[in-house]
Amino acid sequence: MFNSARLKLTGWYLLIIMVISISFSAVLYRLLTLELNQLIDRQNARLEKQYGAPNYRSTPLLDRAIVDEVKTRLAFNFMLINGLIFIGAGGLGFILAGKTLRPIKKMVDEQNRFIADASHELRTPITALKTTLEVSLRDESLSLKEAKATLRENLEDVNRLQFLASALLELTYCPRESTSVREIAQVADATKEALRVVKPLAAAKKIRIESEVAPITAVISTKELTDVLIILLDNAIKYSADKTAINLIALERDHQAFISVTDQGIGIPAVDLPHIFDRFYRADSSRSEATGSGYGLGLAIAKETIQRNQGALSVTSKPNVGTTFSMKLKMK
Ligand code: ADP
Repeated sequence: MFNSARLKLTGWYLLIIMVISISFSAVLYRLLTLELNQLIDRQNARLEKQYGAPNYRSTPLLDRAIVDEVKTRLAFNFMLINGLIFIGAGGLGFILAGKTLRPIKKMVDEQNRFIADASHELRTPITALKTTLEVSLRDESLSLKEAKATLRENLEDVNRLQFLASALLELTYCPRESTSVREIAQVADATKEALRVVKPLAAAKKIRIESEVAPITAVISTKELTDVLIILLDNAIKYSADKTAINLIALERDHQAFISVTDQGIGIPAVDLPHIFDRFYRADSSRSEATGSGYGLGLAIAKETIQRNQGALSVTSKPNVGTTFSMKLKMK
């Protein structure tokens, strides 16, 4: 599809350039031949005026055959120039068409991958749900207790589906660009709320969260900042051993709000680091599975949220030492 679109676009580029070039050449050729035709008449008139009618015939005149030859050469040169323009513009057009279409191709490829990944992730809980329901319906001796156990299982699958659906919605959320009113968050409010949410998770693993939050603002809504902090803190807890520490820092640096979450966890291998913000990416599935149900969507959501607010989210990590996620946001 990409190649046929590229050829089509090249064709259009070429058509426009050749129409302009050929029309221009035709007009130029017509003007030049007109001038050439008049050249002999003008020369005759001038000689007649200078030497009088009887004498000028003895003077050598501009040969009509030469004029015709010049006309032919002109036509040939114009054709040659247009041929060169055709080849040059064709090549250049092909390169430009590729450049124009590449971001669109990238977007379409990414969207297709997203749809494929999303359907794949959705299929598992749906299949589980369908199978348990079918098996239970077929079982005539199903007791109330067993039925309740099945319902509980079903509810778990429904919860997974609900979580996935809202994560997918969040990822495809497109902000209205025209809204010029930008929300300003008090960073301390967002960190407080995020810490409240993850506190039970940290307590379950006896993880200490030390926070050092300066009274700064950031250009982002409090809800968005809270959501991002929950994702980062939740990961830090998930991928850390019991009784370790997590540091949350928020301060002003270079007139920007700088917020970081550092853990002493398992870290991220260097090969995985470039992909960590990709949708559905999970570094080393075996260890991710060991930590519970993750879809590899959290960091993709976090990154998109921060970028949507013209900020930046980055990561540094050392396996078995720890990981730091840092974000920079405008202050006002
Ligand atoms: P998940 O739901 O799997 O945690 P995320 O998008 O939040 O999805 O994270 C993607 C992957 O990045 C995780 O599967 C994990 O391998 C890795 N990761 C994220 N945060 C950390 C961290 N603090 N320490 C180590 N690995 C992490």
